[in-house]
Amino acid sequence: MSTPPAGAPEKTVPASVTTPVASAKPPAGLPSPTTAAKPASTAPPLAPLKSSVEGEGWKPLPKKLKIFGNLVTEVVNKGLCMYCGACIASCPIDILFHSDKEEPIMRGTCAACQVCYYSCPRIELPLAEVEERIFGRARRPEEAILGIHIGTYSVRAKDPEILKRAQDGGAGTAFLLYALDNKLVDYALVSGFSAYDPWRPEPRAARTREDLLESAGSRYTPGGQVGGLADVAIPNRGGVNFEEDKIAVVGLPCELQGMWRMNTHWIATPKLARNVVFTIGLFCSKVFDYEKMMVDYVQGKRGIDLRTVTHVNVKKNRLLIRVGDKLVIDEPVEAIGAAAREECNACIDYSAELADLAIGAIGSPAGWTTVLTRTPRGEEILKSAEETGYVEVKPLSPVDKGVKFLERLCLKKRQRDPSAYMRRTTAFPKPEPTLVNVELPMKTPA
Ligand SMILES: Cc1cc2nc3c(=O)[nH]c(=O)nc-3n(C[C@H](O)[C@H](O)[C@H](O)COP(=O)(O)OP(=O)(O)OC[C@H]3O[C@@H](n4cnc5c(N)ncnc54)[C@H](O)[C@@H]3O)c2cc1C
Ligand code: SF4
Ligand code: SF4
Ligand code: SF4
Repeated sequence: MSTPPAGAPEKTVPASVTTPVASAKPPAGLPSPTTAAKPASTAPPLAPLKSSVEGEGWKPLPKKLKIFGNLVTEVVNKGLCMYCGACIASCPIDILFHSDKEEPIMRGTCAACQVCYYSCPRIELPLAEVEERIFGRARRPEEAILGIHIGTYSVRAKDPEILKRAQDGGAGTAFLLYALDNKLVDYALVSGFSAYDPWRPEPRAARTREDLLESAGSRYTPGGQVGGLADVAIPNRGGVNFEEDKIAVVGLPCELQGMWRMNTHWIATPKLARNVVFTIGLFCSKVFDYEKMMVDYVQGKRGIDLRTVTHVNVKKNRLLIRVGDKLVIDEPVEAIGAAAREECNACIDYSAELADLAIGAIGSPAGWTTVLTRTPRGEEILKSAEETGYVEVKPLSPVDKGVKFLERLCLKKRQRDPSAYMRRTTAFPKPEPTLVNVELPMKTPA
């Protein structure tokens, strides 16, 4: 097992310190090993000791129930909830739902099972352990900034319809289409649109090329994506066969964190991710509040009917909104600065470090998608999609606007403060009994 990341890294420490690189760093709270020779001990000989819990002996730590109310107090009310949807998907009695305020809400009586609390990546995210589970190894020092990866590419879909509807080079949609056509998966969990509020994202199970085309492009507000896995687990929610269906999941870095937290914590719900064959993660620097960005600003202040908007982009620090072929907003992104969501201030993952395939615009020429293959499966999907004519692929430039540029943005994001969740103090004790420190009486010399 690799060593976990430091628990409360300072804001400006170098990335090699804030990232879960395979290093000799001890877990937070433990003293650093030192190479300096220790001075000879001058401590007095130990006095005979007594049990610290006289008469009780070994005793497990008291376990305090942590339920949805605790999640609200410790995450939602503290501005840490990034609306990944993991808690919503994980509730075994299906009483957690998506809300218009882009946070989970409860409708019903809680069974106090604690599953939602321990599914939340903002309660704790032991990244090094999670990476060990996903990749089977720890990061190498040279992967400190970009995360574990195999290849870096610029990719473009060959299907002209995908290119027309996609955000950049359409690699995301093309990979999913390749996987559906070749029966690698039965459906892809993508970001669709609410039937009631135009441009409000919500999870969608895409089964066909048409479904994928309708969900292509980016929404810059969160949609509780992982909550879509509830369709898998909860029989009355949708037409998905939990036992058999194979799934691909697309999500923002924090949404994949939610999925993996849910999948790796022993008290959470690993079964929900059991059928996930591969994941596509989107690069991300921040999201915005739907009401403030789309309703109050784009529709309210700028008078653009959201039902007519065809494309939304945030690129090179500009907000770009199209209605058909017409660019109706092209202005500094500061115009919607007040709509930026607070929880992103604690996020250090720019390049979707927990995905099989990480995709974004940065690093590639316009009209192409930058792709990092992080697992052998991700690499295989890219190569097979290329061989079968779904995408064209070229190496990502190692300099200039390529890898170096991407690294700079990743590094910049590392300077945010993740100590609110990259910690180990609130973790539920592991299944092994956790014991009160009981000292044994010393043997009386004969
Ligand atoms: C909120 C947000 C912030 C981003 N920030 C950056 C950035 O800073 N730098 C950068 O290089 N790239 C960023 N991207 C990624 C970029 O916008 C493109 O998604 C990426 O380049 C892939 O393009 P594509 O044409 O290959 O994808 P497409 O073929 O268009 O496929 C995109 C896929 O993403 C899904 N999707 C769209 N919106 C969401 C959402 N809100 N949540 C979950 N899934 C969604 C779609 O359903 C679709 O399956 C961001 C994306 C989002 C949604
Ligand atoms: S997951 Fe368990 S603790 Fe959380 S809301 Fe559902 S029943 Fe309550
Ligand atoms: S699991 Fe995700 S949606 Fe639920 S409280 Fe945590 S961050 Fe928010
Ligand atoms: S910046 Fe981080 S927390 Fe915010 S939406 Fe992007 S991945 Fe999620």
